[in-house]
Amino acid sequence: MTTPLVARMREFGTTIFAEMSALAAGTGAINLGQGFPDTDGPPEMLEAAREAIATGRNQYPPGPGVPELLDAIAAHQARFYGIQLDPRAQVLVTVGATEAIAATVLALCEPGDEVVTFEPYYDSYAATIALAGAVRRTSVLRFPDFAVDEASLRAAFSGRTRMVLLNSPHNPTGKVFTRAELELVCELAREHDAWVVTDEVYEHLLFDGLQHVPVATLPGMAERTLTISSAGKTFSATGWKVGWVSGPAEAVAAVRTVKQFLTYVGSGPFQPAVALALGLGDEVYAGLSGSLQAKRDLLVSGLRAAGLEVAVPSGTYFVVADAAPLGAVDALEFCRRLPSVAGVVGVPVSVFHDDPEAARTLVRFAFCKADGVLTEAVSRLARAGRER
Ligand code: PMP
Ligand code: GLN
Repeated sequence: MTTPLVARMREFGTTIFAEMSALAAGTGAINLGQGFPDTDGPPEMLEAAREAIATGRNQYPPGPGVPELLDAIAAHQARFYGIQLDPRAQVLVTVGATEAIAATVLALCEPGDEVVTFEPYYDSYAATIALAGAVRRTSVLRFPDFAVDEASLRAAFSGRTRMVLLNSPHNPTGKVFTRAELELVCELAREHDAWVVTDEVYEHLLFDGLQHVPVATLPGMAERTLTISSAGKTFSATGWKVGWVSGPAEAVAAVRTVKQFLTYVGSGPFQPAVALALGLGDEVYAGLSGSLQAKRDLLVSGLRAAGLEVAVPSGTYFVVADAAPLGAVDALEFCRRLPSVAGVVGVPVSVFHDDPEAARTLVRFAFCKADGVLTEAVSRLARAGRER
């Protein structure tokens, strides 16, 4: 038999998150790799899911999503950003942001179309672009400030550009794009008549008083922007896989056409629970970013004390550090060894690059963990540094 996997997916193998979580489980190392919190989200939301299961909401929800969640997403966009959406025509519930990304790229891109994105990129972007038979064109964000390089961004656009796939706050770097950077991306998208697909799953995880700027609120962008988010990060419920996409009705309808045949629907009883969570008070939203900012500071100072250079993140729950002082030469090989070197798991940033040289010794650590876990992790890393 010939190899079963289609050629366009062969470079993808197993995701780094699955590999590193399995490594943590197998070695007992502290898992600062895959980004998931070790505490639960709002208790009212958890109760609402139990209630939905107990009261028979266990069959297929409507294709676009349950009405109260569609309404809650539209209300959330209006409340935080002043974005007005028709919840019945401009919002679609998906199985996590992952499905929203896949359905959007598959719906909008013909084979051979080009998608501009920044590297390092979230791994599903590359895989999804490949599944669509589209071509990724990237501009590199470089450690330690990860600033947008205008010349390489301009060079990534061409007459075949169909879409820009953007992510701010950005995984894995923790970068929050400045308004000027977003405006440059938007200007180029308009010039090339491209769609902007903006992955804003970390929209509520910003630090130091920074405000999230949704791309759809920039001048002239609402009509060419599809905005993606998810309950996973905002409400510490990554396993529920409730995501959504919103934007112009015609584009959302296109995404819905594809989405119907990926999963049709998902996460039935979790949908009303997320609807409830979206309507919770400002203090719930602020509480999460406040507690994460303290965790960021704890991890950043611990990594620095262990001798590592750190890029201080302005958002997300990830921090990127240069692990060269711990003996890293190749980040992937180093992360496979890190459990035995230090009893900690991280994620090599190089796997999110077309050009792994751009992140040869960079490791991403997640800080959405209990303070005691972070303290123990940094003391292990410091010990590993001293023992070298
Ligand atoms: N986009 C980014 C940037 C992410 O980090 C993640 C994963 N956390 C996703 C999308 C996927 O989100 P979900 O778990 O809702 O599918
Ligand atoms: N988004 C999470 C991260 O970046 C992991 C998601 C996944 O495992 N696919 O760590």
